[in-house]
Amino acid sequence: MSTTVLEGQAVRFPFDNSYARLPERFRARLDPTPVAAPRLLRLNAALARRLGLDPAELASPEGVAVLAGNHVPEGAEPLAAAYAGHQFGNFVPQLGDGRAILLGEVVAPDGARFDVQLKGSGPTPFSRRGDGRAALGPVLREYLVSEAMAALGLPTTRALAAVATGEEVYRETVLPGAVLTRVASSHIRVGTFAYFAARGDVEGLKVLADHAIARHYPDLVGVPDPYRALLDGVIARQAALVARWMHIGFIHGVMNTDNTSISGETIDYGPCAFMDAYDPATVFSSIDQFGRYAYGNQPRIMQWNLARLAEALLPLLGETEEAALASANEALAGFAPAFEGAYLEGLRAKIGLPGGSAGDVALAGELLKAMAENRADFTLTFRRLCGAVEGDDSARGLFADPAAFDAWAARWRARLGEAGGDPAARAAAMRAVNPAVIPRNHLVEGALAAAYAGDMGPFEALLESTARPYEDQPGADLPPAAAEEPYVTFCGT
Ligand code: AMP
Ligand code: MG
Repeated sequence: MSTTVLEGQAVRFPFDNSYARLPERFRARLDPTPVAAPRLLRLNAALARRLGLDPAELASPEGVAVLAGNHVPEGAEPLAAAYAGHQFGNFVPQLGDGRAILLGEVVAPDGARFDVQLKGSGPTPFSRRGDGRAALGPVLREYLVSEAMAALGLPTTRALAAVATGEEVYRETVLPGAVLTRVASSHIRVGTFAYFAARGDVEGLKVLADHAIARHYPDLVGVPDPYRALLDGVIARQAALVARWMHIGFIHGVMNTDNTSISGETIDYGPCAFMDAYDPATVFSSIDQFGRYAYGNQPRIMQWNLARLAEALLPLLGETEEAALASANEALAGFAPAFEGAYLEGLRAKIGLPGGSAGDVALAGELLKAMAENRADFTLTFRRLCGAVEGDDSARGLFADPAAFDAWAARWRARLGEAGGDPAARAAAMRAVNPAVIPRNHLVEGALAAAYAGDMGPFEALLESTARPYEDQPGADLPPAAAEEPYVTFCGT
């Protein structure tokens, strides 16, 4: 149904919907539910152009009607995808897009394919008891954090637009509703495979695996053991992704298997947050009572999620059950070395000693230990370390006991001297991997509170500063004042 019929400018999307061509049982076809009063809050013009879309068209009344779900553009084949998932370790055989609708896939001018999905676009057959909607705060939070992640250089879904609906949603309180337009290389998840595996639908599993290979691992088309190769590919990308999360202090918060993508992109920004003071046990999510998804647990949890993927793929991994199990286990054994390799190399680079030795890993480990013992800010410690190469000693002030930093820094400086090289070049290389600016929790909360009060200024300012994370921006990089309440995040539901 289209409630908004507007003459004039048509919004053209270069759609080519491969997922919609998969068998019926992969999804439910339905249009988004129109909303009362769409109003554009934010459009990502640069991303629009990257996709081959016209920002002016998108910002026009008809464009906003599309972004709100009030108008289905030419060529779209809206659908809600079926998937399952392990939530906090418990298997749920049917989840699916309960509040998201895939409009279709656009093929960008460079040939890259992207899902364009509306999130918060009304109920679907997978909504269970949910209303299919999203509140303003979580929509803006996902916009901000996913765009910050992209600017930091991490694989992630992107935010194309946020639109206010003019409707209320009912959570603990009544909140204004919003719709996020999310862009991803696909929304295929570990849980999508689990959906077919749980039904004993080996044919569906195979169709899905072939689709995922063609889309995300085209080099694997036609290799001798493509499904094992797919599993290896996902393991490699997710190992690299989690290593990157660890390097920047990112906590996903809800690493359920339905939130673990096959493409290796960060997906589903709900209760995610960046760590301030370094503590591997940091948990922000209100529903993560036992710290399952704590910062330091993320690699282990990702390995667990990939084991669920391997399990789902078993029917495709060998002629016999024994052969399939052996293949799955062999693939899973690749996670730890892949993660360690990427994580440790990144850690050495953070202290200015890339390609270094096991001794340098130990040195970095000693720094992390001192940081944890002294509640040092994760992001700022590493950023100030860049300047420390050139004699700036402001990092010490971040430690409860600055002498703990001094003791470490003396050993580190001796090692840098031994390694040689130009200090200015080393500092520059370190500044390229140690961000100055992240979406700090207190700033995100402030931006969302202002947006609820009708002022998008702080949101815009934070979006602007987090788009340049590797530049020093005095004032934009500060951790929260001490003694604030422990930070708590909530799922967007
Ligand atoms: P999430 O925690 O956002 O990854 O969502 C987990 C599952 O709950 C997915 O199947 C979502 O589609 C569904 N879900 C979350 N919020 C809502 C909502 N407000 N209405 C309907 N389904 C929802
Ligand atoms: Mg999800």
